[in-house]
Amino acid sequence: MITFNLESKTAYVTGGARGIGKTVALGLAKNGADVAIVDIDLKMATSVAEEIKAMGRRSLAISCDVTNPEDVQSMVDTIVKEWGKLDIAFNNAGICINVEAENMTPQEWKKVIDINLTGVFFTSQAAGKVMIKQKKGVIINTASMSGHIVNSPQPQCAYNASKAAVMMLTKSLAVEWAPYNVRVNSLSPGYIATEMTLSAPAEWKDRWIDLTPVKRMGTPKELVSAILYLADDSASFTTGTDLVVDGGFTSI
Ligand code: NAD
Repeated sequence: MITFNLESKTAYVTGGARGIGKTVALGLAKNGADVAIVDIDLKMATSVAEEIKAMGRRSLAISCDVTNPEDVQSMVDTIVKEWGKLDIAFNNAGICINVEAENMTPQEWKKVIDINLTGVFFTSQAAGKVMIKQKKGVIINTASMSGHIVNSPQPQCAYNASKAAVMMLTKSLAVEWAPYNVRVNSLSPGYIATEMTLSAPAEWKDRWIDLTPVKRMGTPKELVSAILYLADDSASFTTGTDLVVDGGFTSI
């Protein structure tokens, strides 16, 4: 029997203050890991860290903008200083800007690419350096089904491009770091009910549900077992892959 066991593992989750990141962070802690909550919103990150401590695990709330390489390095340094090692990095912070391609400003394009792609590179790089030294580690990057297909109706070319690039970045790092026993994978969720999606216009949500074969949005909890699998040592032959969890959306 294989059970996921993250006892004595240390992890961080970017974008861990709410939504998918928060739920995954709590799931990692429930399964034994100490988890640092990394976010630009320190107040919300602190409240998630308190929840984890109440579960009897160690936690840290770290203010970090993933687009700032100094913030990112200092975040990883803090974790290694406090806990002595870093086993699991979940690079999950991301944003979406819905603007037609012809009207997108350079600032909007840059913001999406900076957070969703460059932020994943900076965090993977800082975590990877530690893991290469340790000769062990797991990095999981949040991509999206939007990196696989154009999920109408909303216009979001920068988001789609950033998520496709996250998948290829993930594969590239997986190949470069396989000799160091560092596994790198990505997760591609479909429509998941979080603050990011629930604030969208009602007609978009109706269309998303209609286009999803299981006829509903997913919940952040339905991503936890996918992350536990990728993070667990039992997935030791799984690297460079993208795990799609989308209620069948991309299968049509
Ligand atoms: P969310 O908006 O609920 O949470 C995102 C978190 O990231 C927030 O806590 C925010 O403060 C943090 N964040 C934003 N910019 C940051 C920065 N520069 N540095 C550090 N933290 C920052 O979003 P979510 O729905 O939980 O999405 C999480 C990830 O999953 C994102 O990468 C998103 O693209 C991806 N995703 C979401 C869905 C969905 O349907 N919700 C689907 C596919 C992929």
